[in-house]
Amino acid sequence: MKVGRYLVVGAGLSGAVIGRELAENGHGITVMDSRNHVAGNCHTERDRDTGVMVHVYGPHIFHTDDSEVWQYVNRFSNFLPYKNRVKTTAKGQVFSLPVNLHTINQFFGKTMRPDEAHAFITQEQADTSIVDPQSFEEQAMRFVGRDLYETFFEGYTIKQWGCHPSELPASILKRLPLRFNYDDNYFFHKYQGMPENGYTKMVEDILDHPLITVTLNTPFDRSMGAGYDHVFYSGPLDGYFGYELGQLGYRTLDFDRFTYSGDYQGCAVMNYGDKSVPYTRITEHKYLAPWESHASSVCYREFSRAASLDDIPYYPIRQVKEKSLLGKYVELAMRAHNVTFVGRLGTYRYLDMDVTIREGLDTGKQVLMQIAKREKLKPFYVSVL
Ligand code: UDP
Repeated sequence: MKVGRYLVVGAGLSGAVIGRELAENGHGITVMDSRNHVAGNCHTERDRDTGVMVHVYGPHIFHTDDSEVWQYVNRFSNFLPYKNRVKTTAKGQVFSLPVNLHTINQFFGKTMRPDEAHAFITQEQADTSIVDPQSFEEQAMRFVGRDLYETFFEGYTIKQWGCHPSELPASILKRLPLRFNYDDNYFFHKYQGMPENGYTKMVEDILDHPLITVTLNTPFDRSMGAGYDHVFYSGPLDGYFGYELGQLGYRTLDFDRFTYSGDYQGCAVMNYGDKSVPYTRITEHKYLAPWESHASSVCYREFSRAASLDDIPYYPIRQVKEKSLLGKYVELAMRAHNVTFVGRLGTYRYLDMDVTIREGLDTGKQVLMQIAKREKLKPFYVSVL
C-alpha cells in the first residue's frame, strides 16, 4: 500500500475521527486548526476559579442509538451517565420539556392519565385539518395545537432562528418528542452520557497517535494543501472558496457569562419561551457534570443572531435562499482538486455529534478503500443538498 500524507483542516470531531482512521492505517496526518484548542464547538475547559467544566461553545450532550459510535467514544473517554432534563420558563411558570404529561397537565390545570391526555391533545388541541405539515408551525399546530405551540415553541423559535416558524421546515420541530407519559428525558436514544474529563480531552486522545501531528493557531489557506496527497476540509464550505459567491447563512450564538455563588437555577438548561425575554436559554454548566460537586456556578445566558463573516458559525440556516447558494458551492466543490468537504461546516448541515462521528468513520473507511485501489477521492462522501 502506498503510504500517503494527508492534511486535515479542523480538529473538531470530523477531522479527528477521519485523521485517526487514516493514521491507524499507516498514513501520515497533519491536523490544523485556527483555534488554540482541539474539539471544535464541543470544546470543554475547566474554569480556574470555580473548578466547573465549562462547555465553552454551549451545552453538548452525547446521545446515540449507534452502538459502534458509542463504543468508539468510550474507547477514548470514560462516559458517565447523564440524562438531559430540560426545563422551560414561560408565561410566569416553570415547565418540563420535552412536552410530556407533566407539561400538559400543568399547562391545562388538569390531572389526565396518558390516554386521556392523548385524546385531549389530538381531539381538542391539534389541528387535524393539516394533513401533511410542511413548516415548523404546521407541524406544531398539527401535533400539539395552538396553545402549547404559542407558549413553548413560537417565541423560542423566533429568537433562535430569527424568523417565524411558518418559514422554517417541519424537520426542526421533529427533533423534539411529544410524550403522553412522565418521561422527561429530552432524547429517545439508547445511549446517553458525558465524557468524564470533557470533550476536549476525548478529542485530544483521538488525535493522540504517532502518525498524527496537530498544529493549532493556524488559519488555513488553500496553498497549504500543496505537498499533501489530499485535504480533508471541515471548515465552512463557502470559506474554502473565499466566499466568492456570497456567504451561506448561519446563526451564531453570543454567551453572556456570569458566575454565581451557590446554585443559580438548579438544572443544566433552562429555556425561555417568552418573546419578551431576549435570550433563548441559560446553561448552568456544573449540572452538565452531575458527578462533580462545586459550591459556585458558571452560567451562560445564550443569545442567537445572524452570523456575519467574523462570527463563529453554529446553525446552518438551510432555507430556500441558502440552498440555492449551497448548490452553487457544491458545483465549485465538485470541480476542486484534491479536497474532500466533511462535517457540519464542510457540508453545511445541522449535525449531532454522534452523526458527525458516524460520518467520519464511514468516510474514513471509504477513503481507505479508494486509496488502496488508487482511485481519486471524492469531494463529498455524504449527500449535501
Ligand atoms: N424549540 C422550541 N422551544 C424549546 C426548545 C426547542 O421552540 O424550548 C425548537 C427550536 O426551534 C429549536 C428546535 O425546537 O431549534 C430543536 O430543538 P433542539 O433542542 O433540538 O435544539 P438544539 O439543541 O439543536 O439547539
